[in-house]
Amino acid sequence: LYGKERLNSSGINLADSDAQIHLKQALEIASKQLWHAAPIVDGHTLTGRVKTILNPADHTDVVGEVTLADSSAADKALQTAYQAAPEWGNTHASERAARLERAADLLEEQRAELMALIIREGGRTIHDALGEVREAIDFCRYYAAQARHHFVHPAILPGITGESNQLRLTGRGVFICISPWNFPVSIFTGQITAALAAGNSVIAKPAALTPLCGAYMVRLLHEAGVPKKVLHFITGSGSEIGMKLVSDARIAGVAFTGSNSTACQINQALTQGERILPFIAETGGQNGMIVDSSALPEQVVKDVITSAFNSAGQRCSALRVLFLQQEVSEQIIEMLSGAMDELLIGNPIHLSTDIGPIISLSACDELQRHCERMDREARLIKAIPLPQGSEQGSYFAPRIYEIERFSQLQHEVFGPILHIIRYQASYLNEVVDAINHSGYGLTLGIHSRINSIIDYITRHVRCGNTYVNRNMIGAVVGSQPFGGEGLSGTGPKAGGPHYLQRFATERVVTINT
Ligand code: GLU
Repeated sequence: LYGKERLNSSGINLADSDAQIHLKQALEIASKQLWHAAPIVDGHTLTGRVKTILNPADHTDVVGEVTLADSSAADKALQTAYQAAPEWGNTHASERAARLERAADLLEEQRAELMALIIREGGRTIHDALGEVREAIDFCRYYAAQARHHFVHPAILPGITGESNQLRLTGRGVFICISPWNFPVSIFTGQITAALAAGNSVIAKPAALTPLCGAYMVRLLHEAGVPKKVLHFITGSGSEIGMKLVSDARIAGVAFTGSNSTACQINQALTQGERILPFIAETGGQNGMIVDSSALPEQVVKDVITSAFNSAGQRCSALRVLFLQQEVSEQIIEMLSGAMDELLIGNPIHLSTDIGPIISLSACDELQRHCERMDREARLIKAIPLPQGSEQGSYFAPRIYEIERFSQLQHEVFGPILHIIRYQASYLNEVVDAINHSGYGLTLGIHSRINSIIDYITRHVRCGNTYVNRNMIGAVVGSQPFGGEGLSGTGPKAGGPHYLQRFATERVVTINT
């Protein structure tokens, strides 16, 4: 279960010309298609106000339309999910698992088509889109395996003579799953499949910016045999429909990935009224990487570029603040600057693109505002120009600033902007304090070949996922269970062995025989 017998989904060799041709064909077909997402309640597609979804890489490209759910659609979904929960919870866990395994098989079959949609709606690169579909497949299979392992048979516990004690894991009821636009397929799928595997009915709300990927996944899960009265899909804005869902008395828990401020709002809504509900929240980070003078500079540069700029920095795991030991800082800054010149910014439809667009123009504006402040308060080390034609989409040029103190960054900046702070080796403890002081605790990178330094940092930094001598993004299901602490979330680790239990309730039956 934890080890060798479980395999993660396979990749595609994108250097292979046959694979490239196949993918190109799928992308071409999908680029002509007009996709549609609408609320799906009890298997019925509902009508309503319609909004257009544009490709962030090219605003002249209409990807599709989304029909927005109104309050009565949300209400109907809540009622149906509420009534369906007990039967699904009592469905044998291996039966629930089998449907998720079927979903994984369907995902494998439809991989190219779904990648094409992710690229077009989410602006993700081909490599990222492939990673996302693979992660979604892994979530389905991993949670299915977990359900078979923990939910099929009760745990038999010790007791005094003549007494039997059994502990069972059971679904809680209706789970609301609210997912982000930066992983419109994998995180969307991960939340839902965990809740379903544990025996809950689900109302899935996709990010307002990426509903087409969400609708695709819900249709696929229904096709795989997840009952239509158990899984519902509600589109719309977080502030209206999302808040209505989490405020409803019929729900039993919420899984959320997104910004820290939205998590706080949901948390507040959950504390209203007479209820105590589980809240599984994964939010942002102010992630640091510490590089000392024993690190291998070439490896550092490669891993910094990946960690800070992959997915245009739109990962909550992305590197935001690079701490460089004074002695090696000049050399590494110079190498980083050279490496940035090699980055290709452009439409993610091309295999050679390293950095695609930012999700929306308003997100670009926010990055711009941060840079204006940095231009006043920090030193610009490097900015790479945007290529010609980039005004067609919402692109933002990656850049690096040098700052003096971590506290100059008040909030997570969700894009391709890296900040550098130089430090003296004798003040490593202050670096650790500064990271802890931010209040976030999601990812951390360390580049060092001195075991005592690695040991010191990992013992003292409060952080969910630490990566040593490698990049710090792309957690793999089952190998790097993912989730943070403090302002970064409530802590459950997606893709880890204890995740499903957070969606379940434990019941103990003691029999005096
Ligand atoms: N799990 C992703 C990673 O390891 C990040 C998830 C997120 O950005 O929300 O890169």
